[in-house]
Amino acid sequence: MSSANTSRRVAFETIRAVNESDAYANLLLPRAIARAGLDTADAGLATELTYGTLRRQGTYDAVIEIAADRPVHEIDSAVLDALRLGAHQLLSTRVASHAAVNESVELARSAGSRGAAGFANAVLRRISRDTPGEWMARVAASARSDDERLGLVFSHPVWIVRAFRRALAAEGRADELEALLTADNASPRVTMAALPGLADVPDDARHTPYSPLGFRLGGGDPERLVRESGGTLRVQDEGSQLAALALTRALPVREGERWLDLCAGPGGKTAVLAAEALQGGARLEANEVSPARAGLVRQAIAGVPLEVPVSEEDGRTRAGAGGYDRILVDAPCTGLGALRRRPEARWRKSPADVPELTQLQGELLIAAIGGLRPGGIVAYVTCSPHLAETAGVVGEVRREFGGAIEELDARAVVRDLAVADPGLPPQNDGSGRAQLWPHRHNTDAMSITLLRRP
Ligand code: SAM
Repeated sequence: MSSANTSRRVAFETIRAVNESDAYANLLLPRAIARAGLDTADAGLATELTYGTLRRQGTYDAVIEIAADRPVHEIDSAVLDALRLGAHQLLSTRVASHAAVNESVELARSAGSRGAAGFANAVLRRISRDTPGEWMARVAASARSDDERLGLVFSHPVWIVRAFRRALAAEGRADELEALLTADNASPRVTMAALPGLADVPDDARHTPYSPLGFRLGGGDPERLVRESGGTLRVQDEGSQLAALALTRALPVREGERWLDLCAGPGGKTAVLAAEALQGGARLEANEVSPARAGLVRQAIAGVPLEVPVSEEDGRTRAGAGGYDRILVDAPCTGLGALRRRPEARWRKSPADVPELTQLQGELLIAAIGGLRPGGIVAYVTCSPHLAETAGVVGEVRREFGGAIEELDARAVVRDLAVADPGLPPQNDGSGRAQLWPHRHNTDAMSITLLRRP
């Protein structure tokens, strides 16, 4: 088998596991690549094929339905995955079309029932006869509404298209919707952070535009750098860096302050908080309800010479009454702001997840506010721009507390701590919420709200 064919098989098997067994591509793929002994170039091909196919599955399914003249749910699932992988190569890569067709037909033959190869061959040949532009026009024409058209062409479920449209409209930028959907379909570049006071940005790296801790490597292995630095150089989205810094830099730190990271796992932001606490003479505690993820928090902060107790409690009862100066609530959320990173995530979430999450988010935020000393601040952060999880939760909690809580201008805080002005437009609800975006800032779509107990 040629090495490119091995890459295709690794991609196919990973896609099968994701679609059949609810596996996560980012966990499974590195193991499959190692098992197959792929070199760097072939590993890159396997990654592109896997991530590209999973991300654009919605578009490819629409193409396959037209080419096969039958709904995708009537196609054997293994054959369908082979067709998706073939469609990806034909429509979005420079792989020669005969190689894309032949190898996908082989995958369908080995995985499917009798007749699968002939069917796959016919469908893929039909797809290969027209250009990607012609297929996109056909797919767009099959939509019954503008949201459905965007969903099909940009491969997002319609409910997510609508949630994004509303979140962008809340800052007068609904015209950026296509740019956002496009950014979700590209692979994010690896961004790293140098923990303040503990590591410097390497000389040969490029600083990121906004976070004062952030950098990107010109080449080389980020994981090696993480190991060699003892974890003081870390892989972390620039938006996550800004969210942690928004809490620590909103007000000057006074010696002896008590901080709490309420939903800390896997500990990326905890590491930034710990380094900042060390510099400012604050004490930090972390909490994470899942014991396995609490273990990851302990690993994440191992490189910071600060004693940080990590508890494993439900955050809704952890903060106690009135003891903390700063609390980070990096709440469990739909993760709609990080779709670039998790190629299958958009197909796993559903609108039915939202009410349960917003209920929990509200309860965590209320508990955190209860845990503040007078003058203390809480940062309420989600890696989702969905308005129900951001403005909705904050609005409800603020109504409940009335004058007992005030909002700080998180946009000004982020702008003041950032190296370059991220240009955060005001929210039309008049709040101080800061919203970052993949298409504008090259970060996850983090939402940051700062609340203060007077
Ligand atoms: N701050 C983390 C970081 O930067 O690495 C990411 C936090 S993640 C968005 C939310 C975390 O909240 C998850 O690890 C989840 O297990 C945890 N969680 C969920 N429900 C919780 C609860 N009731 N109390 C505390 N933590 C909870």
